[in-house]
Amino acid sequence: MEANKFFPEVHGNFAFGCMRLPMKNEQVDYEEFSRMADAFIDAGFNYFDTAHGYINGLSETAIRDCVSKRYDRSRFLLTNKLTDPYFNKQEDIRPFFEKQLELCGVEYFDFYLMHAQNRENYKKFKACNAYETAYELKKEGLIKHLGLSFHDKAEVLDMILTEHPEIEVVQIQFNYLDYEDENVESRRVYEVCEKHNKPVLVMEPVKGGSLVNLPKEADDVLRSLNGGSNASYAVRFAASFPQIAVVLSGMSDMAQMEDNISTMKDFKPLTEEERVAVGNVCGIFKGLNLVPCTSCRYCVEENHCPKEIRIPDMFAALNAHEAFHNWNSAMYYNSVLTTGGHSKASECIKCGKCEKVCPQHLEIRNLLVKVADTFEKA
Ligand code: SF4
Ligand code: SF4
Repeated sequence: MEANKFFPEVHGNFAFGCMRLPMKNEQVDYEEFSRMADAFIDAGFNYFDTAHGYINGLSETAIRDCVSKRYDRSRFLLTNKLTDPYFNKQEDIRPFFEKQLELCGVEYFDFYLMHAQNRENYKKFKACNAYETAYELKKEGLIKHLGLSFHDKAEVLDMILTEHPEIEVVQIQFNYLDYEDENVESRRVYEVCEKHNKPVLVMEPVKGGSLVNLPKEADDVLRSLNGGSNASYAVRFAASFPQIAVVLSGMSDMAQMEDNISTMKDFKPLTEEERVAVGNVCGIFKGLNLVPCTSCRYCVEENHCPKEIRIPDMFAALNAHEAFHNWNSAMYYNSVLTTGGHSKASECIKCGKCEKVCPQHLEIRNLLVKVADTFEKA
């Protein structure tokens, strides 16, 4: 496995994102996660990524039990993040950081990111001297590389990187569907990273699975190429750009792990023919008008919806209904999504809490009206 061109301690250019781990009875499936971690490390990779809020805190402890306890610290790298809801003043940051080290079972983090930066929460990070506090932790050797993850317009990133040149690396949402998207601005955000000479970590290369389970017409476009899974084209698209250091993939089962390993172990950039094909897939997607939800679950896990509305699952059902004409979606909505204490879309009280944490800046309240119209009036 070749050393990473930006960070020699990183093996290759592929990382294990631990936001969507395999689950069993609402707990992380340790057996499956351990098998996946073993396959990942055996293939020569070493970069794991987590955050305190992932899977309601279960991601960090799963890493402790399935990776940190089972591997010597020299065999893996770990990224964690400072996330908005978990501090309110500067004095909160160090104890929170120390708790994260303990939960993950490690004595330092290889990368530590100011999480999900945007124009709004950057104000809070500034007021709490979060960047300065993290930089102190770096000087003490508890953080090897300081970075940020980002969800906003390119001009906001330009401002932050100008104010904080000590940031070494930037994690951005980057995939072929968002590349020219006017809301996400992947291309423009990437160009800001180039301008500031910051290596890029890619999140959401398959857009929360949207680029894996393609509508038939789009699926046919990729099937006409020379083999390779739908995920492989998306991951290779992201990894083909020169400023990309690592592509993270949030994997939930062994099949996804094996597919990604086979793609990235002997990585090859997209050919011109393949680039044209993914451009055609973008054109097909645009005509479908789908909800661009990535299933990150921030709206239900970091924010506690007072009505327990299963927002991302409802958007997935709506997209399945629109893209695949999946008529089972209505039955699923009524018999699963809106039972067990979870309210219907029409019962949203429009408090707006969910929209404040949505990294995609979705108008969730309006979209839930569409969900209700589609499934509750049928
Ligand atoms: S706006 Fe609706 S969906 Fe969002 S948190 Fe409030 S009640 Fe829940
Ligand atoms: S609605 Fe927004 S916050 Fe909720 S899962 Fe989708 S992208 Fe994430």
